[in-house]
Amino acid sequence: MDLQRLKRICDLGGVSGFEDDVVLYLQEELKKIGPSSIDSMLNLYVHRTEANAGDPVVMLDAHTDEVGFMVRLIRPNGLIEFTPVGGWVTSNIPAHQVLVRTVDGTYITGIVGSKPPHYMSESERTQAPVIENLYIDIGVSSRREADELGVRTGNPIVPRAELEFKDDEIIFGKAFDDRLGCVAIVEILEALRGETLSVNPVGVFSSQEEVGLRGAQVAAHTLKPDVAICFEGTPADDTFESADRRQTALGMGPMLRYIDSKMITNPRFQRFALEVAKKYDIPVQTAVRTGGATNAGAIHLSGGGVPSIVIGVPVRYAHTHYSVASLADLQGAIALGRALLKELDSEVIASF
Ligand SMILES: [Zn+2]
Repeated sequence: MDLQRLKRICDLGGVSGFEDDVVLYLQEELKKIGPSSIDSMLNLYVHRTEANAGDPVVMLDAHTDEVGFMVRLIRPNGLIEFTPVGGWVTSNIPAHQVLVRTVDGTYITGIVGSKPPHYMSESERTQAPVIENLYIDIGVSSRREADELGVRTGNPIVPRAELEFKDDEIIFGKAFDDRLGCVAIVEILEALRGETLSVNPVGVFSSQEEVGLRGAQVAAHTLKPDVAICFEGTPADDTFESADRRQTALGMGPMLRYIDSKMITNPRFQRFALEVAKKYDIPVQTAVRTGGATNAGAIHLSGGGVPSIVIGVPVRYAHTHYSVASLADLQGAIALGRALLKELDSEVIASF
């Protein structure tokens, strides 16, 4: 696995709807794989040069967007009011660094400020923060200065955090949901270069998942896949569940879910994937989720129905500035994706 590329992909900013930097980087990295295109939603489609027309199309999906914010207004004193994009818990937002994208596409540093404890009343100290009282300080004192820096209403804002490695085993950083999925697809397409398959995998890097699976909805209509495999950075539960109850623990392999709030996983495809994992000796974990959803929720309902599975890399503290994940789990997701593409053919797919 190319670790420097992994870091680059995670560090790039790409709030929902503003995934440009991620999409262009991935397109450049994958130009040897085959022809690619980008639609108006900023979905990126990467086809293999080895593709045989007539082979069943396997959509390899990962979303490029991350949770972030948008400039709502700039106060006369230069402080920025903002609105969250994607699912945030307000208490995770204050006292962190962010990067505000300016009109020319560059990013400037900001701090999410709030009232210092010295000025808080006793009741204010114990109250949960509310988004309306938070603001971003970019180090200016007037609206005019903010304007001169190119900050405008509607500009996207991303969490600022750079990926760090711990012993080439554990990674800390932002946007693992779902840049780890993007990395998995990049690695799979590269590993399969020149190989003859019985299916036609297409890498789809979809936009706007965090605001309701929007890019994937369009991508599935465009591509009309026969089956789909969604690669996700999926929330880990091992920091709060007891050992006998956890289903998505770091270091235990990719997680395959039977159900979540938007999909009952095609049981035949799921069984096939678990059998392939066993055959190739790839450790996996399975989960029954009551909440959460992935792009598979949209893809499996497209066209005449698309059998879909989710391969999730466990990510601790998703939707915050700092997540923790295991490179072994990511390797497992890549290995399982490759194995599935080798084992899938039209007969197997017809049985789903
Ligand atoms: Zn995600």
